[in-house]
Amino acid sequence: MNKHLFDEILMRVEKPARYTGGELNSIVKDISNVNIRFAFAFPDVYEVGMSHLGMHIIYNLLNSYPNIWCERVFTPWTDMEKELRNHQVELFTLESNDSLKVFDFIGFTLQYEMSYTNILNMLQLSGIPLESHKRDENYPLIIAGGPCAFNPEPLHEFIDMFFIGESEELLPEVMGLYEKHKKAGYSRLAFLKEACLIEGIYVPSFYDVAYDDTGKISKRIKLFNQAPDVIKKRIIKDLNKSYFPDKIIVPYIETVHDRIVLEIFRGCTRGCRFCQAGMIYRPVREKSVETLLAQAELLLDSTGHEEISLSSLSTGDYSKLIELSQALLDKYEERRIGLSLPSLRLDSITFGLIERVQKVRKSGLTFAPEAGSQRMRDVINKNITDEDILESVKTAFELGWSNIKLYFMVGLPGETKDDIYGIKEMVYRIKDAFFDRPRELIRGNFNINVSAACFVPKPFTPFQWDTQNTVKEFQDKTGYLKREIKDRKISFSYHDPKLSYLEGVFALGDRRVANGMRRAFEMGCTFDGWGDEFDYDKWLSAFKEENLSMDFYNCRKKAYDEILPWDFIDCGVRKEYLIDEKEKSLKGITTDDCRVNCSGCGVNTSLVGGPCFEDSL
Ligand code: SF4
Repeated sequence: MNKHLFDEILMRVEKPARYTGGELNSIVKDISNVNIRFAFAFPDVYEVGMSHLGMHIIYNLLNSYPNIWCERVFTPWTDMEKELRNHQVELFTLESNDSLKVFDFIGFTLQYEMSYTNILNMLQLSGIPLESHKRDENYPLIIAGGPCAFNPEPLHEFIDMFFIGESEELLPEVMGLYEKHKKAGYSRLAFLKEACLIEGIYVPSFYDVAYDDTGKISKRIKLFNQAPDVIKKRIIKDLNKSYFPDKIIVPYIETVHDRIVLEIFRGCTRGCRFCQAGMIYRPVREKSVETLLAQAELLLDSTGHEEISLSSLSTGDYSKLIELSQALLDKYEERRIGLSLPSLRLDSITFGLIERVQKVRKSGLTFAPEAGSQRMRDVINKNITDEDILESVKTAFELGWSNIKLYFMVGLPGETKDDIYGIKEMVYRIKDAFFDRPRELIRGNFNINVSAACFVPKPFTPFQWDTQNTVKEFQDKTGYLKREIKDRKISFSYHDPKLSYLEGVFALGDRRVANGMRRAFEMGCTFDGWGDEFDYDKWLSAFKEENLSMDFYNCRKKAYDEILPWDFIDCGVRKEYLIDEKEKSLKGITTDDCRVNCSGCGVNTSLVGGPCFEDSL
């Protein structure tokens, strides 16, 4: 892009640093020395994308190959989009400022369903046809991975190739194949035909789907005989040996998380029945303390960040949490480098540790009971009791905490009025626990922040056959809690029911919802995950125009033998296990944590080839 025009545009946008690049540890290569140009595309703004650990891993992993140059691109905010359109400038990467059109690959990460229209917008802003079948050898290959790729079908028309599972080993394999094809005279179709044979790769254009008279899927049809029937997810067996960057880019502007992130393990042993991540990332694989200490040192030295975040699905379950945290505190306390421990579960909090952590940086405590009643916690397999919760908060109060955050969900399967009322009851019991103490012990400005999310059934969970609440049902429930939780010491917030409802449509959608998405995008829908930008009425009109029923996808109970859009993907967990878990939930029967007892989800045989833990069966 012309430098003068670029500067002129930057002067007019709200946050120019979102688009300039040039940050510490960003990588610029000489294009005459590279064979593959890869644009890592995050379908949200810079600040959100730059806080995403996966982006830093892939960026540095690809750039560790001399023949590949990986650059970054984020969704331009609406002010920048206007400038690009007005000046007919194509969307560009931060490193070279080249248009996305000149790249070999554009790789989108699918972190949440409500970013899908941003993908369409980024393609359009780059002058790249939205639909895969309209793109020939002159256009980049559009690929996508991440948690939402476990139901890739709503995006099947727009993406050439999906990466299912963990990409650290898969991406270099695909790049190697591409380079081979490029040297031999590249044909897009020939490349895709060979790529689809690699485990973990799904090429949607090699399949078609047929529907019966009721609109349900009747069968999947292969259009390329050799394409696999089932796409098996990829996993990294030993995280200690897998690639992890020794430096990450340091933004000029404040991002969502300005700190180094240590991923301490992948997977989760708890088996909460609503949680997709807990199912698709099985089994648990931990990194050693030695590996993590070495990674922390490299990242702190190369970034100058002053905070370390331990990241995982359930940090309190890391078997060496105390050892690791103490080692990090011993090493970095003096430098005033803080340690943050997100995702701690109520029953696994080690308060002594948290107290030490808080000496460097004081923050509130977060608890996620998820449901207000014991009955509902048994249904969702959240194995904690009212007593556990109350004991934990009482200990926290004794140790001087007075600020508490509580996360709940509404709309869970089989939920009754009593379960909703239980949320209010628990919040007030916690408040009473604070004030029902001797006056001299009551310190601090007491405050509870209660947040309620609207439940979205997700693929590969025991609740994948369940119906989501309607917008009206969600509104009634959140409205009830809003009226009931009226206390100046308690603040109550909740997720937008309309947004959660639409999230359900895309989470559970099949190929046909792509038409609704394209139409909504044509009507101007982008940044749907950003409250102010979300226009639900436009979405309703778009689906109506395309003759699509949203309820068909998320508000319809499915039979166990119905073919679900994502059934061709093997995430390692057997369908029979999910059915069993669903049946147990109906009876309020809980399932043990994997570390206590293996309940035979299937991952051990299909992916690990042996027990998940040394002492499990
Ligand atoms: S095989 Fe057993 S231990 Fe391994 S993830 Fe499944 S239930 Fe847990």
